Amino acid sequence: MSELLTHLLNASPDAFLLANLDQANFVYVNPAFEQLWQVSWDNLRQEPGVFLRTIHLEDLPKAEQFLAAMRNREEKVTELRLRGTGSAVRCWVELRIVALSGNETIAGLQGRDITLQKEQEIQHRQALDQVMSVYEDLSNHQEELKASLEEVRLSNQQLDRSRGEIASIIQNASEAICTLDNSGKILSMNSAGMKLFRLKENQFIYQYLVNLVAKIHRKDVAGFLLGYHDAPPGEPPVFRMEMTMQRTTKEEFPGQLSLSRVEGMAGAGFVAIVTDLSEIRKREEELQRAQQEAEQAVATKSQFLSNMSHEIRTPLNAVIGMTNLLLDDQLPGAQRQKLDTIKFSADNLLAIINNILDLSKIEAGNVHLEKKPFQLTALLGNVLSMFRHRATEKDLDLRLEGADELPEWVIGDPHQLSQILTNLLGNAVKFTQYGHVCLRLKNLGLVDDCIDLLIQVEDTGMGIATEKQQLIFERFTQAGIEISHLYGGTGLGLAIVKKLVNLHGGNIKVVSEPGRGAIFEFNLKYLIGQAPAIEHIPISSLGPKWLAGQHILVAEDNQVNQLVISQYLQKWGGRVTLALNGREALACLAKEKADLLLLDLNMPEMNGFEVAHAIRTSPEDLAARLPIIVLTADISLEIARRTREVGMDGVLTKPFQPTELQAAIAACLRLGQSVGDIPPKESIATVQSAPLIDLSFLAHEDPRNSRFAQEFIRLNLIALTEFSEQYATTLRSGQLAAYQAMRHHLTSNLVLLHFDQLKLALSQGEELMVDGLPKDKEESITHVQRLCLGAVKLLEKHPAA
Ligand code: ADP
Repeated sequence: MSELLTHLLNASPDAFLLANLDQANFVYVNPAFEQLWQVSWDNLRQEPGVFLRTIHLEDLPKAEQFLAAMRNREEKVTELRLRGTGSAVRCWVELRIVALSGNETIAGLQGRDITLQKEQEIQHRQALDQVMSVYEDLSNHQEELKASLEEVRLSNQQLDRSRGEIASIIQNASEAICTLDNSGKILSMNSAGMKLFRLKENQFIYQYLVNLVAKIHRKDVAGFLLGYHDAPPGEPPVFRMEMTMQRTTKEEFPGQLSLSRVEGMAGAGFVAIVTDLSEIRKREEELQRAQQEAEQAVATKSQFLSNMSHEIRTPLNAVIGMTNLLLDDQLPGAQRQKLDTIKFSADNLLAIINNILDLSKIEAGNVHLEKKPFQLTALLGNVLSMFRHRATEKDLDLRLEGADELPEWVIGDPHQLSQILTNLLGNAVKFTQYGHVCLRLKNLGLVDDCIDLLIQVEDTGMGIATEKQQLIFERFTQAGIEISHLYGGTGLGLAIVKKLVNLHGGNIKVVSEPGRGAIFEFNLKYLIGQAPAIEHIPISSLGPKWLAGQHILVAEDNQVNQLVISQYLQKWGGRVTLALNGREALACLAKEKADLLLLDLNMPEMNGFEVAHAIRTSPEDLAARLPIIVLTADISLEIARRTREVGMDGVLTKPFQPTELQAAIAACLRLGQSVGDIPPKESIATVQSAPLIDLSFLAHEDPRNSRFAQEFIRLNLIALTEFSEQYATTLRSGQLAAYQAMRHHLTSNLVLLHFDQLKLALSQGEELMVDGLPKDKEESITHVQRLCLGAVKLLEKHPAA
């Protein structure tokens, strides 16, 4: 080898090895080879096997192939790993066969360290493998991915749509909606808001919300906006208030402002919603006006009814009164017949007027149920007896069933019950030609001293077609057009009955088939009552001159009525003084004491109320209470209340029957009592007076010498006087326990005095304590005070007093 080549190879950074192919040994390695193979030339020359031992075991076959190619002088390039300690790879080498031209025996190899390049290659491959595995993974989940992507796309679409919808809702809302920053400055506003506050495009940007609120409310709004930080944690604070709002034109309008804090809205701090209340306020005012007009109309109707009632009843009183008086006279048969017809027609006319007025009263809510003890069984008998004559004429069997199972006394409204039964029995008798009419009562049971009654009115008459069975309860409705021709009637009776039954909390129904009769059926509840401690003297036992020795003052401006009344009174033995007006009545009383005053309410100069007030407040009357019976053609509840307030003892509604006048006077003068003698009929006569207390058990004591009688009277006088005061205070205070204690305290006095009216009033008072209106409480106070005063007067009159 030439010196120059040796020099060049020695300086080369690549490793070179030369071998003699014929001798099969190595002839030269350069220093770069020694460094790469980590073997010295001497070592390799002595032990050529080192060449292969340096090669990684796995690459030995490749190395042997390379050496074979070298021997065959082929061209070849190969990459091999050289081993470190154990099986570790020390480095990578690239080996290339180098042919020396012109020399057949010498072959060479050129080696180069390619470890760095190889490591990079491995890294790249690993990275590629990772990418490939991710890719594989991705392609495995591609479907899922696609689905998720689709979902995301749809959600986004929906979100966009919702956003659009919300924006459009806000934009098109009828309320004004705006967003505010933390200081209350308006950031955005919908078109309703712009319109409401008369703002032009984007003009709101310069506005603060408080500028859209009337001055008086600005403090409230600003207070909320600035003070929301102080609100307790939890629910975000909300402000809602009806207030006067203000447009940019300074015009004011009523509105409702709702303000709420919004967190997480870009830039905004509050949302304000303003509702325009102008229309609602306008409608409220219209409604109020309409209500006032309706109330005015009701008042006018009431007034009209009251006037009509007075106008028709007054002359009718004369007609009925005169007819009754004439019928008492001995008259030839023909005239009696004509008078009977007049009486029949007048009574009918009165019934019709009463029906119309009753219905109007109920519809106007002017009928309130009374709660007083009455004899249920006697009432049933009385009502039935009213139809006895007509039933006998038609050969009908009129009967009462189930009365034996009933308590004798109950507490309720006897007038309304008798009105219900009168109407139903009247119809039953009217529409039945053969068979029977039966008033049947069933006691369904007793709960808390209250009986539940099933009441049926059954007949075997013409019956009612199914399709008419509801209609007949409507006012002015009959089951057929022929009915009015054949039977007369106004179609009002059942309408009144239904309303009265409803007022009692019951319901009425009819079971019927045409030609097979009808059963009208309803339920009523009554508290079990006790007989009031009243001495019953049947009017029939009074004798014809039962008023003998009594002086009666009649104050009545209508001379026909004067005549009718005085005729009766004189017939019964009474002495009568007539006064044409209130002033005359007072003058008469000043001149001469009377035992009873019959007082018309509607009189010129001084009306009945003024007269009664003057009498009740005079010292004479306080000493000896003059009984007063009011005569009136007006049956309104208002009149009933005022007569009670002013201290009247009875109300007699014109036109009245002689028996009613008799009953009212007898009750007031404590000559008799009317319950068993005439059927109660509120529209005709109401007798309020009844002996208040019973002192008969003192009768066997010598009044002037009995210390017991004197002490009894004295103590009761004190108890009742004190109670009268205490009742008012306690009832008004609303303290139930105090009321019950006070009531309990008086119980034994009430039992000994047989003071049933006060007992009843106190139990009603207890109901008022629970849920009574102040107005009703005041009425009860007046009533109780009057009862106490009445009893005190009676006690004072007793000889032992
Ligand atoms: P009036 O009897 O004055 O016509 P009501 O309101 O009392 O008015 O009755 C309405 C209608 O109901 C009667 O006209 C009649 O057609 C029918 N009606 C009521 N009761 C009976 C009955 N017991 N049997 C047959 N029809 C009856």
